[in-house]
Order: sequence, then structure tokens, then C-alpha cells
Amino acid sequence: MATLEFVSPKKIKPTLRKTLEDKLYYAHKGLKNIEFTDSEANRKPLIKVEYEGEISEVDLQEKIVELIKKFARGFMEVEKEILYDRRDQIPFNQKEIYPALIKKGWIHEYETGRVALDGPSMRLYNFFDGQFLKIAAAMEAKPIRFPVLIGVDTLKTADYFASFPHHITLATHLVEDANKIQASAEKFAQDQDPGHFSEIEEATEHVCSPAVCFHLYQLLSGKKLDQLIRRTAISNCFRYESGNMNTLERLWDFNMREIIFVGESDKVDQLRRDAMVPVMELVDKLKLKSHIETASDPFFVNNYAGQTFYQLSHRTKYELLLNIPSRGEEGTAAASFNWHQNFFGSKFKITTSQNQEAGTACTAFGIERWVYAFLSQYGLEKANWPQYLTDNW
Ligand SMILES: [Zn+2]
Repeated sequence: MATLEFVSPKKIKPTLRKTLEDKLYYAHKGLKNIEFTDSEANRKPLIKVEYEGEISEVDLQEKIVELIKKFARGFMEVEKEILYDRRDQIPFNQKEIYPALIKKGWIHEYETGRVALDGPSMRLYNFFDGQFLKIAAAMEAKPIRFPVLIGVDTLKTADYFASFPHHITLATHLVEDANKIQASAEKFAQDQDPGHFSEIEEATEHVCSPAVCFHLYQLLSGKKLDQLIRRTAISNCFRYESGNMNTLERLWDFNMREIIFVGESDKVDQLRRDAMVPVMELVDKLKLKSHIETASDPFFVNNYAGQTFYQLSHRTKYELLLNIPSRGEEGTAAASFNWHQNFFGSKFKITTSQNQEAGTACTAFGIERWVYAFLSQYGLEKANWPQYLTDNW
């Protein structure tokens, strides 16, 4: 492992550092640890990067500097709006819990970004999803089950590739050619080398879905709605996060429940706001340190400045952050309340009964993050857990 240290070419506000740090992992394969520290001399932070692989220091620094410049260009910061604030709660536990979760067998790690939940973690997972399902039912959202695979065409229509190309997980199959398949089987038997997949795989027409709600927009595409649509679904979602993947907070393969609304734009906006009320009731029953604030999506760097400004200033995305006490005041985004205005209605040609482009909104819960934040705030000793949970799990 090598280390590279240099002074940032730009000043970077402390509030933006985490977002930028996450982006920098995509500068080059093999980056392991990226850290910003304030340098006394000027207000440009010192950047320290640990990395593996064949790249010269000069080339690596150049790649990182280029990303920082793109990120900083035209970035406009908007004051964040706080809707609910429970940051005065004092968590029971302050210590890092992940090593203990592994040791006790509550979490099994395969490799970074892929885990199995076991024992109490699994029970907590079911508890939280059960709570979200109740919230969905109270909002009259009917359950639906979507496939994991989603068409490249669907994501193209949703403009996903332009915004989040770095997260994509491709799913393809071998060409339907018996000779080629037989030849590859023999090759496998001999050398176990999966590297030659590239010679026999079919062009990619599907990817592992990065979110849940696109499936619904696809189903409704070209339709005229006679009423507001309310559905809920849970699905494995896939977002490749490079060096950012850690604990249960950033998984490559995770589970998300969404409550999705499609209809008149102002009505679906109101519904995703209404969803905050029962979510905060749950937070309060569990006495979790948290808050809801305006947020922006982690767009790829070229789009970052414009999109972030748009989202923050239009209040199209709110996030519930559950505190992770071992990281101080930082939290994990465990739920988001998104209003896409008529963006997907227009892309997927969905219209309302009044012949308007439909609005869409969704409330999304990252279930593993709830489990992790809960355990981070309460620790592993069940005697300390809130009664609402132990009565209902
Ligand atoms: Zn969604």
C-alpha cells in the first residue's frame, strides 16, 4: 500500500468534504483511504490517499485534482432546511459496534459490500420492514413485488446512466451458442478462469436494479391514470460504491422498501411529506437521535453542481438521518422522501385523468441502515433496548 499526500487545489468547505471524499474513490481503482486534514498554511485542506496498484504518484494526483476541480466548479451551496429535529436525544451507546456484530455472528461478511444478517440483526430487519409496511398500509399503498433485474432501456428512459453511471451493476448471460458454451465449460474445468466471460457474454440488456420505483413507472408507461396510484415494494438494490463501501451503511447489495405515489404532482408531493409523520412517530417510539433535512443525490461529478443546487433549492428531496454516535454528530440517511415533479411522468409518458403529465414521489427506507443505526445507538445488550421494540419484534 502506497500513500500520496498533497494540498488540495481548491478550498473545500467542511460541509462538502464527505460528499467529495465519496466521489474521489472513483478517480482510480485501488484507492483505499481518503482523508482530508486542515493545513495551517492556507484554507486548502491536505489530502491523504492510500492506494494499491500500478499508477505513478503524478498520474494519480492529476486524476484526483481533475475531479476536485470539476466538483468545485459552479458549486452553489444552499442553506439546508431542517424539518424535524431529534438531535437532543442522547444515545445509549457511543462505541463502534460493527466488530462486535461480526464477532457475535449477527452479521456475516462475504466481502466488502455483501453481507448476511443473522440472529437479532435478522429480527431487527424484519421488525423495521414490518413497521414500514404498516406505514404503507395506513397510506393505502398496496404491496407489489418487482424483479431484481431491470432493463437498460428503462434506466435510460429514467436518465439514470447520465446521473449515476458509477453505481451500475451489469447483469448479462452467455450467448445462446452451444459450441461456445461447451468450449467455455471445458475451459472452466481446466483452469477455473472466469476472465474469458467477456468472449461469450451477450450484450448487456439488463442491470441489477439500483432503486425500486423505476419498475412501477415502467409498468405505468404510456398509461392514462384514472386515480392516484399508491404502491409499496421491497427489493434488493445494487449500487457499487467502490472504496466507500463499509459496515451496513454502504452495501453494494442492500434492501430498500419504497412507498410510491403516481398522480397529480402537488398531491404526490403532499403524500411524501405526509409520510414523514408516521416515520417520526416510529423514531420517537424508539427514541432515536435523528433529524430530517433537505438533501441532494450523490450524482456523478459532472452533474453534481447543477443537480445538487436544483434538489436543495426545490426541496425535492428530504432525508431522515439517524445518528451513528461513534462518528460524532454524523448520521446515516435511513429514509428519503422524494418528489420528482413530472420528470418521470414525462419520461415514461404517464398522464393523469386531467391529461396532465403525472407527478411521482417515493419514500424509501434503507433497511440495513435502520438496523445499523439502531444497534449503533443502543448497543448489543438487549436489556437496554426500548420496550416498543422488544414488545413488537
Ligand atoms: Zn424511488
